[in-house]
Amino acid sequence: NGTKRYITNAAKASMFTLMARTDPDTPGAKGVSAFVCPADAPGISLGKSEKKMGQQGAHICDVIFDNARIPATCLLGEEEGKGFVTAMQVLERGRLHISAVCVGVAERLIEDATKYAAERKQFGQPIGNHQLVQAMLADCKTEAYAARCMVMDASKRRDAGEDVGTESSCCKYFASEMVGRVADKAVQIFGGAGYVADYGVERFYRDVRIFRIYEGTSQIQQMIIGRNMVREASE
Ligand SMILES: Cc1cc2nc3c(=O)[nH]c(=O)nc-3n(C[C@H](O)[C@H](O)[C@H](O)COP(=O)(O)OP(=O)(O)OC[C@H]3O[C@@H](n4cnc5c(N)ncnc54)[C@H](O)[C@@H]3O)c2cc1C
Repeated sequence: NGTKRYITNAAKASMFTLMARTDPDTPGAKGVSAFVCPADAPGISLGKSEKKMGQQGAHICDVIFDNARIPATCLLGEEEGKGFVTAMQVLERGRLHISAVCVGVAERLIEDATKYAAERKQFGQPIGNHQLVQAMLADCKTEAYAARCMVMDASKRRDAGEDVGTESSCCKYFASEMVGRVADKAVQIFGGAGYVADYGVERFYRDVRIFRIYEGTSQIQQMIIGRNMVREASE
């Protein structure tokens, strides 16, 4: 029983992955198992499609479990109680994925803003000639480059079999905050045009806001990074 809120494309899904406490006597992560279950299993229903700030191409709604019964054959993996470990493995990869998306969006925004700064003339000269506009472009470029290097490094280390729990959180935290700052500066460089839907920058500004929230908020990434650091230091 319960409701999982805000599931992307739930209305299109024929299967759900879900975590459920299978051992009520074992507190914490160890009593949780992972399942893959059909979306039409008895007791599973969907809430209404939510109206969102951005990312209008992806729809979200609640998935509601009301005395839902899931057959034991839907258990993911061979053992009960491994659900949290499974979730962590997926999240580590997911965080690197979101970080890479943030870098991609930032690079697109920087390209658009740089072109606009070179083309847009005010009082006889391109706005890109002004050092204050160049400073905004330079900040964007520097931060996006730093995030790209972080994502490449953490991904390579993960591919080599290293545990990158801390690094994937560092990437998600920095890259998602970075693309928010870049989108904000891109709107500023476009001036009034940055606030108008026709130019596209306004849409990115709204779309990137969610990156700081899903797959673990920035505060959750800070907690993971800090906790891992303190734990490793005391081992
Ligand atoms: C568009 C969209 C798509 C989504 N898609 C999916 C999906 O496909 N699958 C899925 O499972 N989920 C999905 N989500 C859910 C999303 O992952 C959660 O909304 C997100 O993790 C935050 O959880 P919450 O909304 O419960 O916020 P809360 O946990 O209530 O957090 C609210 C605030 O409190 C802070 N906070 C909470 N706990 C702590 C703490 N311990 N220490 C410090 N600060 C804390 C948070 O950082 C945040 O600032 C989606 C959400 C949205 C909006």
